[in-house]
Amino acid sequence: MTQDAPLQLAPYAAHAANSAGRRFPEPAPGSRTEFQRDRDRIVHSTAFRRLEYKTQVFVNHEGDLFRTRLTHSIEVAQIARSCARNLRLNEDLVEAISLAHDLGHTPFGHAGQDELNSCMKDFGGFEHNLQSLRVVDDLEQHYGAFDGLNLTFETREGILKHCSLANARQLGAIGQRFIDKKQPGLEAQLANLADEIAYNNHDIDDGLRSGLLTLAQLGEVDFFARHQREAEQVYPGITGRRAINETVRRMINALIVDLIRTSQANIAAADPKNIGDVRNAPPLIGFSEPMRQEAAILKRFLRQNLYRHYQVNRMTSKARRIIAELFAAFNAQANLLPPDYQVGGEDDDARRRQARQVADYIAGMTDRYAMREHRRLFMVEEL
Ligand code: MG
Repeated sequence: MTQDAPLQLAPYAAHAANSAGRRFPEPAPGSRTEFQRDRDRIVHSTAFRRLEYKTQVFVNHEGDLFRTRLTHSIEVAQIARSCARNLRLNEDLVEAISLAHDLGHTPFGHAGQDELNSCMKDFGGFEHNLQSLRVVDDLEQHYGAFDGLNLTFETREGILKHCSLANARQLGAIGQRFIDKKQPGLEAQLANLADEIAYNNHDIDDGLRSGLLTLAQLGEVDFFARHQREAEQVYPGITGRRAINETVRRMINALIVDLIRTSQANIAAADPKNIGDVRNAPPLIGFSEPMRQEAAILKRFLRQNLYRHYQVNRMTSKARRIIAELFAAFNAQANLLPPDYQVGGEDDDARRRQARQVADYIAGMTDRYAMREHRRLFMVEEL
């Protein structure tokens, strides 16, 4: 299906030489492309290392073998690169976007983000996609010449997957596509769906590993049952972890193959000549309709049986309480924050900027750091 050497990029792929550039112009990199430089900056960032101790579904201390945001991001990059090579898209760009896509996530997964968003409702809200962009544009402190990582437009476009119109209007060029209702480049579209393939499948795997999901339950999902039967036909008598792994890898493969074929057909029909045509076309990277339905059923199953499992709910409710209490304490009394995060001033603008600093501080925490910080603030005996 594919070749081992990088193929010539398709004309409608993102070409590093034609990048829309960086916010602060820099000399061209010597031994790598602009998108490789982006990827390298992301890998060396502080926010990237924090992903190791941030949760997807399970909190980091619940077990050593569950996915974290770091391993999730690596899986997304793997899936996205596989597809990119087949579609002759830019692997370096899709890898950079995949590795950066979750940098703005709060501790405790979606529970943390939902709670921080409600804490911030009077101060402009909190969106994790926008926060990922904020991390790479403003919050990382690595370079002498600028705040953030000064990534290319194309990587930033891919990181900002969703955005409210109100926020898009504040963002200039990078927010414009949400106002104009246009698409990002194909690499951004691809990283988005690779994210979905990765989490649907690894959440099944982690769900089974944790015992919160059972094989009997999953047997009711036809997409799972079909691939499970296929694995049993190839390896009669296969059981346990091997049977699960053989099933999940078949599911991932089926999704990837469907995505490549469907996207190839969409691209052929739209016939874009360059990335500009891609941005003006409808979304071109996607699943076939039958596969989209299977993925929707799988998602619904996970929502009903895993994400709302009472044991997950307990952790979710604890996580929300920790975030809410941290936010309330810091926002009421900014002198509890490290000095870098204290704004000073009492007018509305100062209060707004202070709340944003609190949100940045909390969003940057790992799961265990948030728990420790909570104990430090609320437990008399903890220093
Ligand atoms: Mg993700």
